[in-house]
Amino acid sequence: MREKILKILKNYKIDKIKIGTLGSHSALNILRGAKDEGFDTVCICKKEDKKIYENFGVADKVIEVEDFKMLLDRDVQEYLRKENVILIPHGSFNAYIGKFDELLVPIFGNRELMEWEIDREKQRIWLERARVRMPKRFSRPEEIDRVCIVKFMGARGGRGYFLAKDAKDFYDKAKKFVEMGLARLEDLSSAEIQEYVVGATVYFSFFYSPINERIELISIDRRYEVVDALGKVPAEIQLGSEIYPTYTVIGNFPLVLRESLLRQAFEFAERIVEVSKEIAYPGMVGPFCVESVFNNNAEMIVFEISARIVAGTNVGIPFSPYSYILFGEFMYMGRRIAREIKVALEKGMLEDLIY
Ligand code: AMP
Ligand code: AMP
Repeated sequence: MREKILKILKNYKIDKIKIGTLGSHSALNILRGAKDEGFDTVCICKKEDKKIYENFGVADKVIEVEDFKMLLDRDVQEYLRKENVILIPHGSFNAYIGKFDELLVPIFGNRELMEWEIDREKQRIWLERARVRMPKRFSRPEEIDRVCIVKFMGARGGRGYFLAKDAKDFYDKAKKFVEMGLARLEDLSSAEIQEYVVGATVYFSFFYSPINERIELISIDRRYEVVDALGKVPAEIQLGSEIYPTYTVIGNFPLVLRESLLRQAFEFAERIVEVSKEIAYPGMVGPFCVESVFNNNAEMIVFEISARIVAGTNVGIPFSPYSYILFGEFMYMGRRIAREIKVALEKGMLEDLIY
């Protein structure tokens, strides 16, 4: 597959490269970053969102689609190749496209690693090989012996996640969630049941630069989820009523970490990058996010990773404390991606960033 993509890239006019993405998730971040680095941009978006992308003025060309899956249509792909577009994948690519075999347009990043991310089993193998501390996992509801968080496959962005303290609680809640339309019955058997780690959640957005062979911390955030509303409802009312807020993400907050905790994050990030090279050549390229909880002992426990830009990096525009310390200029994930492409073009290293 990579050979095929590199062959397509060979036909690209190097001085006419454009940067494109799907209009959602972190598109404004990506497109603005591309503009800051001097690239023309293409945004493939839904009809109803067109106004947003035109309003912000960061898309030189807007392609309207009925559905994001239409990115796979032959004429859309042909147009993107003709326009020398490099696509920047984000969460909507995972959520609405998932398999990338039919996408014959060069992508910045490693599409094989994105598939390692989507498959929870593979993701766990990756993290275990990287010797990253993780929450205990239970293979069946009957094994639950402590508070667990239940995650349905494909229920991305926290939608439909719930907490359960034993098997009965699991089945009761699962039934409720199916009734409320937050989960599907057929998802039950493949649900991931993880020990719920009580602690402070921290999302680290790193960038691995194959050109500099360096891991860079671009920003840190935490999420704003519907479940956060629970704090506004007194406990005695919660107990007496049927309130089931879920982990549906609504936004993100920027975060600065206690400095002595950075070491753990960098150690994990280094090993995650090392193992990525063993499992999916050429390994990590560009943005990745390590999603973690710090417990009472300030130990970092990783519950998920993303092998692409996450929407949490939107808090880092135009810079975060970390990107400023590292670059001394406005730098944020969308711009960092475009910068890597720009430098690669100057050094003749573009192939190293594309899959
Ligand atoms: P959307 O296009 O907004 O539906 O987002 C695509 C995917 O990314 C969905 O699975 C979302 O749940 C997820 N997502 C979008 N924004 C965020 C965010 N701020 N934090 C975490 N996940 C997000
Ligand atoms: P995810 O979609 O896996 O990134 O998780 C969504 C939300 O679920 C996070 O913001 C966390 O608050 C929570 N979460 C996920 N896994 C765990 C865990 N093992 N322990 C505690 N909280 C978790």
